[in-house]
Amino acid sequence: MKEAKNFVTRFAPSPNGWLHLGHAYSALMAAKAAQHAGGTFLLRIEDIDIGRARPHFVEGIYQDLEWLGLDWPEPVMMQSARFEVYETALAALRARELVYPCWATRGDILAAIENKKDWPRDPDGAPLYPGLYRDLPESQRKQLMWEGKPYCWRLDMAKALSLVSEKLSYKERHGQLETQPDTQPKTVSLDPSLFGDVVLARKDVPTSYHLAVVLDDAAQGVSQVTRGQDLQAATAIHVLLQKLLDLPQPDYLHHPLVRDVTGRRLSKQAGDNGFRNLRQEGMSASDVMALLPPPFGQG
Ligand code: GLU
Repeated sequence: MKEAKNFVTRFAPSPNGWLHLGHAYSALMAAKAAQHAGGTFLLRIEDIDIGRARPHFVEGIYQDLEWLGLDWPEPVMMQSARFEVYETALAALRARELVYPCWATRGDILAAIENKKDWPRDPDGAPLYPGLYRDLPESQRKQLMWEGKPYCWRLDMAKALSLVSEKLSYKERHGQLETQPDTQPKTVSLDPSLFGDVVLARKDVPTSYHLAVVLDDAAQGVSQVTRGQDLQAATAIHVLLQKLLDLPQPDYLHHPLVRDVTGRRLSKQAGDNGFRNLRQEGMSASDVMALLPPPFGQG
């Protein structure tokens, strides 16, 4: 087992709903990879979304994962306790003029692109930010800040890319047997420009998912990010941020998403029930695992 000591992976749920079978799959996949490599499986609570995160969902995450037979080192990293770390990184990007404040609402953005046929969309399907507020003179920025309307911070993608001389890529372990982390990973090229000027700090919190995830994975010494394929495209943003912030680059394993019988992928937003319901209906942990796709079950 080559990677033994340094192999660290994690499961990083957001406590804004109960864990569904897709989360069970992701957590088990990460834990199995760590076990196979003789490394460490970490849990991290991604609760920057202060409007939606709830303490009973955090408790629920602990209970549900324990019930599945998983354990992890304490204390668990909570993103809500790390806002200062995110602020410091954001300040560094600000000092290098790699981010700029943006007052646009979702409505402003939609209005700006309304009559533009075939306006490009990012790999996740959102319309690209049309550059409003990107080139605002400093005096106007100061004025708007003074007026006190909320703003977010966006990455100046073109400027960021101009600072990175090499072609960006990362190592993907998907397609390798996820339980054999010592097999050769595949190199995947990345094009962060497809995402445009992404938000690095939201209007209500001093970070966004993208900034927090790269800082936390680095702070926890994560050597393999294990997560669902729905986040694979965003790896382009994460690798760019790792370069800009001089952080180590982990390998990635993006696992297939768990789907229901109609082929639709499970999601909290769509109201998919937590697997704790199955437990309450009398199923055992191994019954639940049997519902998952291989290597855990035949689902
Ligand atoms: N917190 C994210 C979620 O619950 C996962 C982030 C990640 O694994 O990078 O979807």
